[in-house]
Amino acid sequence: MKQILSVLKRPISLFAFSCIVSFATLLLYNIPFFSYVADNHNDSFTGRLFLLVSIAVIMLVLNFVMTCVVMFLLRMVGRIVLALLSLINATAVYFVFTYSVMIDATTIENVFNTRYSEASGFFSWHLWLFIIVFGALPALFCLLQPVIFGKVRKMLIWCGSALAIGLVIAIINFNQTLWISQHDTELGGLLQPWSYLVNTCRIISFQHDEQAEEIKLPDGKLMDNQKTVVVLVIGESARKANFQLYGYGRDTNPLLSKQEGLKVYEATSCATYTTAGTKAILEPKSSDELYELLPNYAFRTGVDVSWRTSNWGEPPIHIDEYLTDEQLSEQYPDEKSDNDGILLKGIRERIVSSPKNKVLIVLHTSTSHGPKYVDKYPKEFEVYQPVARNVEEGEKHIDRLINAYDNTIRYTDFLLDSIINTLRGLEGWNSAMLFVSDHGESLGENKVFMHGLPMKLAPKVQYEIPFIVWTSKGFRDYKTELPAVIEQHYVFHSVLNLLSIQSPAYNKDFDIFKTPQP
Ligand SMILES: [Zn+2]
Repeated sequence: MKQILSVLKRPISLFAFSCIVSFATLLLYNIPFFSYVADNHNDSFTGRLFLLVSIAVIMLVLNFVMTCVVMFLLRMVGRIVLALLSLINATAVYFVFTYSVMIDATTIENVFNTRYSEASGFFSWHLWLFIIVFGALPALFCLLQPVIFGKVRKMLIWCGSALAIGLVIAIINFNQTLWISQHDTELGGLLQPWSYLVNTCRIISFQHDEQAEEIKLPDGKLMDNQKTVVVLVIGESARKANFQLYGYGRDTNPLLSKQEGLKVYEATSCATYTTAGTKAILEPKSSDELYELLPNYAFRTGVDVSWRTSNWGEPPIHIDEYLTDEQLSEQYPDEKSDNDGILLKGIRERIVSSPKNKVLIVLHTSTSHGPKYVDKYPKEFEVYQPVARNVEEGEKHIDRLINAYDNTIRYTDFLLDSIINTLRGLEGWNSAMLFVSDHGESLGENKVFMHGLPMKLAPKVQYEIPFIVWTSKGFRDYKTELPAVIEQHYVFHSVLNLLSIQSPAYNKDFDIFKTPQP
């Protein structure tokens, strides 16, 4: 220990310091990047080796120049920046290794939109150990190692020569441009620290754009006074493959499979993460713009709208009644509040006491959110056993992870069945329930977990979603001619139809129901 400390006390040149940081960044944090290149390039062995060496040199050059410049210009602040990057690099690589994620724009957006309570599901002693060894120790080196900075001219010569070498190698490899552009998402997502630095900037500029007001839809109007209630349930990470209703081998839907008048559609989500999936369920059409959302539009048209949520990440909702699970458990202190059952509490009274004839209730659930599926359902729904109690157990025993996940689907089955039974019991009301998931989920297939891969890479399970509909007798007729697979924008237009909202924004091609004749 004393020897290590005495080595740390010996000052080294900025050149040597930058070389050490640059090599360490390559070796400690970029192994997944190089193994991706090695696995996915189908050149000859020598061709691949040449590419790998070339990329390594360019990476060393860039890291060297960054370290040199940051340290020279910012001094102590520069050290802190490098130390922080070590910590984040270590965390990022841990997630790349453990969950096969890529640190792309989607992942960064998910990180920004995740609450501590959900993120804490990922924390494990593996993670902390990894961060200490591969993050904190390098960070200490960056903070404590004495450095002789030298003259600015010298620094510029080093950086200039390094960049020149990098440029020459890049030109020699110019014929690889096509391959790189075909794999840009993956390569960018595995390259540390650039993956999260570049993507964080992209997300910040994107969110800045999103601050813009939503684009108002043309006014609509209610066409009748018939008492009507629609309950829209937005599922979280519920994948079609594990629903008995879609042919899964397990009895995960014992209640719904007995329900009469249930319609089960083949459907895909528009994205593989919550913010985009939820937006697609609520907006009239696929768009980078923010159009007026279903609850906002229905509310402005005169519908009584209530939003109940145990989730987050939805686009801005502008209605009078927005209730979180915490607020609901304050309202109903007797109800067990740590599962999504709390969202259903008092729902019948809420409907029948409405001052309006048209009611829309949106439940934004979190029932199948990972990675700790075991926390998402009450004990009595633990039908499939044994279950993975934590992340490590789930990685080692995929069957236990699937057991826990299937229990969340079993619980979803119960919740949807309860809603339908409540609606069926309402006298004098037309009623409907729609259940659509925001996206699917990976459960260890090809060592991929969770969700959030870019659509062009995502496995089917991340975007094949359940789309389940129930209506009361004689309310609306279902269309017989629909595409074999429908998508999330069908929700907006079908719900306008159910609520008898006539609107120029309505598109009958995206409605699962026949339009009623006036
Ligand atoms: Zn989600």
